[in-house]
Amino acid sequence: MKNELIKTNYYEAVNGKWLENAVIPNDQPSMSAFLELHLGIEKMLLDLTSKWEKDQAGLNKNIKKFIKLYQMTKDFDKRNELGTRPFDLILKKISQLENLKDLEIAFKDFTLESIETPFGFSVMQDFMNSNNQVLYFGAERLFLPDTSYYKDEATKAQLIGLFTQTTTQLLNLYGFSKEETEKLINEALAFDALLVPVTKSSVEAADYVKMYNPLSKADVIKLTKNFNVMTSAEELVKQNVEQLIILNLDFINAFDSIINEENFGIIKSWMIVSNAKSFASELTDEIRAAGGAFGRALSGIKEAQSKDKFAFYQAYNRFSQVVGLYYGENYFGPKAKADVKKMVHEMIGVYNDRITSNSWLKEKTKEKAIKKLSTLSVHVGYPDELPPYYDQFEIGGYENGSDLIKEKLNMIKIVNELNFQKYNQAPNKNIWGMPASMVNAYYNPSNNQIVFPAAILQKPYYSLEQSPSENYGGIGAVMAHEISHAFDNNGAKFDENGSLSNWWTEEDLEAFNKKSKDMIALFDGVETGYGVCNGELTVSENIADSGGLRCALEASKKGGKHDDEEFFKNWASVWRQKSSLEYSQLLLRVDVHGPSILRANMQLSNMPEFQDFYHIKEEDQMYLAKDKMVSIW
Ligand SMILES: [Zn+2]
Repeated sequence: MKNELIKTNYYEAVNGKWLENAVIPNDQPSMSAFLELHLGIEKMLLDLTSKWEKDQAGLNKNIKKFIKLYQMTKDFDKRNELGTRPFDLILKKISQLENLKDLEIAFKDFTLESIETPFGFSVMQDFMNSNNQVLYFGAERLFLPDTSYYKDEATKAQLIGLFTQTTTQLLNLYGFSKEETEKLINEALAFDALLVPVTKSSVEAADYVKMYNPLSKADVIKLTKNFNVMTSAEELVKQNVEQLIILNLDFINAFDSIINEENFGIIKSWMIVSNAKSFASELTDEIRAAGGAFGRALSGIKEAQSKDKFAFYQAYNRFSQVVGLYYGENYFGPKAKADVKKMVHEMIGVYNDRITSNSWLKEKTKEKAIKKLSTLSVHVGYPDELPPYYDQFEIGGYENGSDLIKEKLNMIKIVNELNFQKYNQAPNKNIWGMPASMVNAYYNPSNNQIVFPAAILQKPYYSLEQSPSENYGGIGAVMAHEISHAFDNNGAKFDENGSLSNWWTEEDLEAFNKKSKDMIALFDGVETGYGVCNGELTVSENIADSGGLRCALEASKKGGKHDDEEFFKNWASVWRQKSSLEYSQLLLRVDVHGPSILRANMQLSNMPEFQDFYHIKEEDQMYLAKDKMVSIW
């Protein structure tokens, strides 16, 4: 560690050497501790896949399906030979549409096959009653990653230019003439422009309770005269639907002024462009690379993935939980699962003590918070159950006249049909939202549940070779971070059953809201070297980091072998990240997580223990006056 940097830039002091030497892979936007682990797992899974390919004896039937799909995805000779022919199926379906009525008739099939339409439905847990699932309705995403890009004329012109250039190349490869391409892109952009004013910004979308807007059948019908939204909903779930949850009221209020016969031409062009982009991955080597060009440009990724990796991920992404379960069971195992579960419960215990001794909450709210904490369900390593659709998947293979688009449609249809059948049913809370092989963790407020996939349980987060303090500063803080999400500005609105309800006394809620505002102010406008942090966008994650770090520090101290420096250093080192400028700036606009350098530096500056341990003084950059520190949990 560079000692002279400790008081000015702790992140740099800890990670300076790593930052100097780290190489961003050409097919990635950044390098980080997360990505290092991910690349290790990727290598293991690639090796495993080629081993499975050679010898399928003893493999379960779903892994065999994964291998069969992989053999299709990696056969680029066949893919190149088929050219764009597989896409004709999609193009024909869209080209046949002559008016909105036609789209209405085709809508159910398009939805089930995930053929892009300008708006759509999904079945998700009811925010008001987490034991039921309801229908949500909303518009598709914009072409640019955030509404803020459309507001600044210069940025907008540059990015729309980039979009036009990369999409032109793609449509040329599909065989559209120059005139057709120009018309398609101009019209698609014209439709995209209509969606901009009725789309939420990343900041607005970060407050997810605002996505919950129930509207009665009668009201939906009144607002959507040009398209029979309710009938489409009922066809999909095969039952009567009395209410939809509208993700964005602005969109449904403007529905008839956007979705109308006059606009049908540009809606159709938008659909052709959107589907040409989304199905590009299933076609030739050239087209799959061109399909990713815009995304790469936005993130500053130098080149497309190699054919080998691309083919692997294409198959893996369809079977991620199947492959993930194998990884979890064989490389993590029941013993580690039990050990880590114990560690999580220890963190919950410390959290419990912290809430009990909390100085700003009244007893009544404390009781409720503790109730929520004590009912938190903990999932570690790998799931006990997989989503049911894998058992229904069948891979046809080229030898049976299939191609990758047909395979995709078949699989997606099974997934979507099962999803729509869940309408009005209780959810299965054992199903995970991530594969065990993913380096990440999450809190699900509707299930009041935390999930730690096996992949994150490695160095520098967790290792038996690391000291206890290092593990607490790594995985301990990550665990407590996820627990804190139960009490961040979003999570705090849900009760112990995962339903939206206000369990706070008025006074305590006011105090909490004031503290959340302080957290916004602490991060808002702070310079990172490539732009400033948006305090409002990142508030939930900053609350979770702050609570997580405090709880982990206490747990480490309780463990008896605490070493401040090891703890702080490992916290700073898990956030090491080296990114392209484009990617760093993109994240500042769209990512609810704070920039890595601030997750390390600002969170530590915000801790009295850190300040005291390193004797940080007012003149030091790492200094934050104690009365400015924000402590919530
Ligand atoms: Zn988080």
